[in-house]
Amino acid sequence: MDADFAIVGGGVVGLSVAWGLLKHGQSVIVIDGTERTPRASRGNFGLIWVQGKGTRQPRYAAWSQQSAALWSDFAVELEDSTGRNVALEQRGGLDLHFSEDSLAEWAAKYEALKAALGGDYPYEILDARALRLEEPAIGPRVVGALLHHQDGHANPLRLLRALSEDVQRLGGRIEAGREVSRVTQGDGLFCITCADGPEIRAEKVVLAVGLGAAMLGPQLGFKTPVNPERGQILITEKLPPLIRRPSLIARQVNEGGVQISATNERVGMDDGVTGKGLAQLAAEAVAAYPALARAKLLRSWGALRVMTPDGLPVYQESGVMPGAFLITCHSGITLAAAHARLVGDWLLGRPDAPDLEVFGEARFAI
Ligand SMILES: Cc1cc2nc3c(=O)[nH]c(=O)nc-3n(C[C@H](O)[C@H](O)[C@H](O)COP(=O)(O)OP(=O)(O)OC[C@H]3O[C@@H](n4cnc5c(N)ncnc54)[C@H](O)[C@@H]3O)c2cc1C
Repeated sequence: MDADFAIVGGGVVGLSVAWGLLKHGQSVIVIDGTERTPRASRGNFGLIWVQGKGTRQPRYAAWSQQSAALWSDFAVELEDSTGRNVALEQRGGLDLHFSEDSLAEWAAKYEALKAALGGDYPYEILDARALRLEEPAIGPRVVGALLHHQDGHANPLRLLRALSEDVQRLGGRIEAGREVSRVTQGDGLFCITCADGPEIRAEKVVLAVGLGAAMLGPQLGFKTPVNPERGQILITEKLPPLIRRPSLIARQVNEGGVQISATNERVGMDDGVTGKGLAQLAAEAVAAYPALARAKLLRSWGALRVMTPDGLPVYQESGVMPGAFLITCHSGITLAAAHARLVGDWLLGRPDAPDLEVFGEARFAI
């Protein structure tokens, strides 16, 4: 046997889970695909975002909150062991609204969610005046915002690098550039076959392959449909401090550039950028933060979100191959701390493991 756990997929989900398992004393091999596979972890917006999640499933809101609460210690531990600062800032985040109706509609949803969560949902409604006191760069077209105090942001590429380094420091092996083509089970072990030859044997296997689950999942008896949703992102030149708290429209990154995000498009596996998409992003950003009209745009990119039909994460052990698990989610940066700190207990069947039952595949009718 090569390891207790083989994690297929070395994006932020696979690496966070690997890190947690290593901390539990498990031996772990991470097998990560080639440059040809889509990689949401390298193209995302870097928000640690609670608000708006779980308005139809409060357990998802609570799970996101639990992760957000763990993030600060998690970031410190990663920095202590790797020297990499993931640029975490968690002083709240803003959902900006351009109409009173949409602000009232979302405030009502948050109030209902707060009641469902027993009052634990720290948010405020900011009217235009209060908002501009908090965030002077906001323009006159924004009528107000929802400020959620658990929200924040980090540098997702530094997070990925720190996780990768720490997984190896803790004794994990990362097999990069290997596409897994087949997973079989026999004699109590999983055999993971890579397209270019090598076979890896492990007692348990975790599929954390993002959109790759559409291909590998059914082999292990999983039925979760994952679909791509493209997001285009823009980044400006470095600017003096302009945006204090991140919003769903823009955030100022630790190096000074303003990242503007993101389109939501169903265009299959096309992760390119379009003039129309970028123009729409720029227009919305300037409407929210008028000073951005003078900023130079440096770069743009597209990346594919990993979407389940209801947008909720999936944590599922296979019914036909016990010991095989599927983990996929739409917000892998937000949930990284929960994946690192809590999901190992669930994978190991510990009594104090988080209850993830509502995130199982039984909710899908297919
Ligand atoms: C535009 C955009 C903005 C986003 N913004 C945010 C945000 O602000 N906050 C947030 O929390 N989340 C955000 N996300 C979502 C976040 O990026 C994803 O939830 C997260 O990256 C998913 O990580 P993953 O490891 O599951 O998938 P991926 O990053 O796609 O990694 C999957 C890995 O599996 C490997 N793989 C696939 N198939 C195989 C195979 N057959 N064999 C071996 N390896 C394989 C791939 O090579 C890849 O490295 C955003 C996503 C996008 C696209």
